[in-house]
Order: sequence, then structure tokens, then C-alpha cells
Amino acid sequence: MKYDVAIIGAGPGGIFTAYELLRRRPDAKIALFEAGNPLEKRRCPIDGKKIKKCIGCQTCAIMNGFGGAGAFSDGKYNITNDFGGTLYQYVGRETALELMRYVDEINLAHGGEGTKLYSTAGSEFKKLCMRNGLTLLDASVRHLGTDINYIVLENLYAELKDGMDIFFNSPVRAIEREEKGFRVICDGREAQTEKCVVSVGRSGSKWMESVCSSLGIETMSNRVDLGVRVEIPAAIFSHITDTLYESKIVYRTRKFEDPVRTFCMNPNGIVVNENTNGIVTVNGHSFEDPSKKTENTNFALLVSKHFSEPFKDSNGYGESIARLSNMLGGGVIVQRFGDLERGRRSTVKRIEEGFVRPTLSATPGDLSLVLPKRILDGIIEMIHALDKIAPGTANDDTLLYGVEVKFYNMEVKLSERLETQIPGLYIIGDGSGVTHSLSHASASGVFVAREIAEEI
Ligand SMILES: Cc1cc2nc3c(=O)[nH]c(=O)nc-3n(C[C@H](O)[C@H](O)[C@H](O)COP(=O)(O)OP(=O)(O)OC[C@H]3O[C@@H](n4cnc5c(N)ncnc54)[C@H](O)[C@@H]3O)c2cc1C
Repeated sequence: MKYDVAIIGAGPGGIFTAYELLRRRPDAKIALFEAGNPLEKRRCPIDGKKIKKCIGCQTCAIMNGFGGAGAFSDGKYNITNDFGGTLYQYVGRETALELMRYVDEINLAHGGEGTKLYSTAGSEFKKLCMRNGLTLLDASVRHLGTDINYIVLENLYAELKDGMDIFFNSPVRAIEREEKGFRVICDGREAQTEKCVVSVGRSGSKWMESVCSSLGIETMSNRVDLGVRVEIPAAIFSHITDTLYESKIVYRTRKFEDPVRTFCMNPNGIVVNENTNGIVTVNGHSFEDPSKKTENTNFALLVSKHFSEPFKDSNGYGESIARLSNMLGGGVIVQRFGDLERGRRSTVKRIEEGFVRPTLSATPGDLSLVLPKRILDGIIEMIHALDKIAPGTANDDTLLYGVEVKFYNMEVKLSERLETQIPGLYIIGDGSGVTHSLSHASASGVFVAREIAEEI
């Protein structure tokens, strides 16, 4: 099999590379390799009745397959350079924003029309946050919702499938350099290609490391974000979420001056399990369809940890803490804020007696046995700071699920064209360590596709 371009990974990064290449060079021979299933075959076995907890499938239907980790996400496309990645450091601030706006247009043209674009610009909350020691970051956010996000992916797939070869259930095992281009090796299949775009996301991080080490590509350690997912009655945050939908708020703790931030806010949403390489952590999303909305809002509170010398394995640190919570709770642990502050574990009875009905079945327990004191102190301080702009956040019945971990791939050394030191080999999306969001990962795909379209 001979191709002009092979794309590895069909998450947002890979999909938008494929989309833009096809649009600019319909004559090009393109292959797209994906470890997981087509969209319609992606089914997580957890049904809440027979199977209540993660059973550790070989490829996780939530993380792998067409659409990548974003397929069942809340579909929040943040158009900003303030968070979600550092693409702007490579391509420039204006280009990064232009690429994200372009991705937004494509999403709208493929089923996303009619969805709302929220913006922090001119918002009263910036002032309110400032007065209470909090900083609201600037962004525009398109909220597709899990249901519309799925439709957009279906439509994109329908457009891509006839213009290229798409191989599902085809994890790429190795990339070898050839005299002109690369050999891409899967189980029982090999392809030769002039250009290769690797977009394997967070789930492909371990494999990515092995590719970098076998091809001599330089990498740097990245950070890990650790914390909890907070669940409260939607009414407590509705004055903020109705206007902004998602607000990224940062707080510097008084005790240690550590920054704690809100992340991935889901008004009227649900809390879910996430399985990364066998470790069960917590996440959240929400639907655009009013019939699927819940009475709760959830968001993460995260603290970043970056190690350098002599210990460099930030992800290993995050993994160990997540494993500890899995060991104590058999999965995700849930605790009432009031129980945490009183230094006691939550029990099934205490959760049932509370006024916040949990949207995820998790094990009642004690998060102070899992999270390091410095991180937990920061989270408690921030909950009290948020209580000033959204009274009720620090209520006893507020639920905290742990642990939430945002693993970041090691950062790969790339040129301003997102090309490795090996000409023709590009690494994009979350797998490169450069992006950590749908919009940035997709934008990085469009960017390399435009670069490659000029050259093949
Ligand atoms: C539950 C959840 C909710 C989220 N919500 C949001 C949100 O609302 N907004 C936001 O901005 N971000 C959100 N994110 C993060 C977002 O999904 C990611 O930032 C984004 O998907 C990264 O895109 P990517 O293409 O780089 O990688 P991914 O989406 O991870 O895609 C990588 C793909 O590569 C495949 N792959 C891996 N290894 C190989 C291999 N060796 N061979 C072939 N294929 C391989 C994987 O199966 C996967 O399909 C969420 C994530 C999760 C898990």
C-alpha cells in the first residue's frame, strides 16, 4: 500500500488533518489508521444495571475510535489562546485563533448550526471574580453538546470515507524510516507513505514515547493536573453558566500561592468515569437535548504539578495517586464537602441523606486519604472562594468525586511547522503535548494539512 500521507489516530487532530487535506488536495492518496472502532460501534459496556463499573476493555470505547477522546465529550470548543494548549507558541497567536475559528465554521457546516457561542467579553463576572480574589480567563466557547458533537462526527465521517482509506481496529505498532518517507506497520498490514502525521492523543501516549525513543526524537516532561470533580445543584452556578456556559476561573491559594483552576464545566450535566490505560478517573459532560439535562452542574478543580529534577515523571505521580483512589474505592470515590471538612468519610447513608443527588455511582469514601494535603488544602480554599461568587458552592452536601487527573503527554520537540527533526514526520494534537483540547487539537490538524498540501 503506497500513500502520499498516512494519518495515525482518528481523534479531532487526525480528522481535521484528513478533512483539510481532502479539501485542498482531493488527488492525494491518504490513509487514516485508528486503533478503535467506527463511531457507531463505540459502546461502553457500563449500563448502570448489569455492569456498573469500568471493566477495563482492551480498547476503551470512550477514548478510542472515530472521534477520539472527544467523541462523547461535551463538545466544548474553546476559541482562545489562554488555555487548551500552546499552539500559538508555534504558529502565532492570530493564526491559532484563525484556525480555531475555521474549525468552528466546519463544525457548524456539519450539523452544529444553531448551537450557542458563549463569550466572556464584556462580562460582569470578570469584575465579580476580581473582587473576590478570582481571575476569569477570556474565551469564546461553542457548546455543541454530546449529542450534536456526535452528529458532526457522523457527517464528517460520511464526507471523509470515500476520499481516503480508513482502517479501524488498526493500532499502528511501529513507524520506520525509509529512504523516501516512512513505513507504517500494523498487525498484518503495512503501508509506505511520503508524509506521516501522528495524532494519537492521550491514550496513545505510551506508544508515542516508544516511537520517539526508537526514532531519536527529543522529548521534554510535561505537567500533570490533579484534583476533584465538584457536583452541585445547577441553580447555584446558573447565573454564571447561563451567560458564559463554561467559565475558567483561577485562584491563587493564600497558604501556598498555588494556582487552582476550574476546568470542564458542565451545566445540567453528568459525572462519568474515564479509563486511561486501566486507571479509572473521573470526568463530566452534558447534553444539548433538554430531555437529557440533569438538575446538577459539575466542574473540575485542578492543581498543576510539574516535576523536573531529580524526579521527572509527572504523569507517573498522577497515576500513582489515581491508582491509590482505585485501590481504596475500587474506582472513583465520592465524598460530601461537609464530611471532608469534618475529617470523616462519606457513607452511602450520608450521601443518600444529602440534597445533591449524585449522577455517577461512585464509592463513598474519604478523599483526604488519597490526595496530598497541599492539593486538598488548595481545593478546599478555592471552594470557599467560589462560594463568594456562587453562594452554596461550599454547602455540606456539595459532592466531590476523586480523583480527576489531567495527564499531559510529554512535549515533543517540534519545529514551527509542527514537524519533528525527521522531515515529513509531524506530531500533532494532545499526543504532541502541545494541545489539550478539542479546538487546539483540531486546529493543529488543519495547520499541518495546509503545510503538507503545499508539498505533496
Ligand atoms: C470525557 C471527556 C470529555 C472531554 N471534554 C472536552 C471538552 O468539552 N472540550 C475540550 O476542549 N476537550 C475535551 N476533552 C479533551 C479532548 O477530547 C481532547 O483534548 C481531544 O480529543 C484531543 O484530540 P486528539 O486528536 O489529539 O486525540 P484523541 O481525541 O485522544 O484521539 C487520538 C486517537 O488516536 C487513536 N490511537 C491511539 N494510539 C494509536 C495507534 N497506535 N494507532 C492508531 N490509532 C491510535 C485513539 O484510539 C484515538 O481515537 C474531553 C476528554 C474526555 C475524555
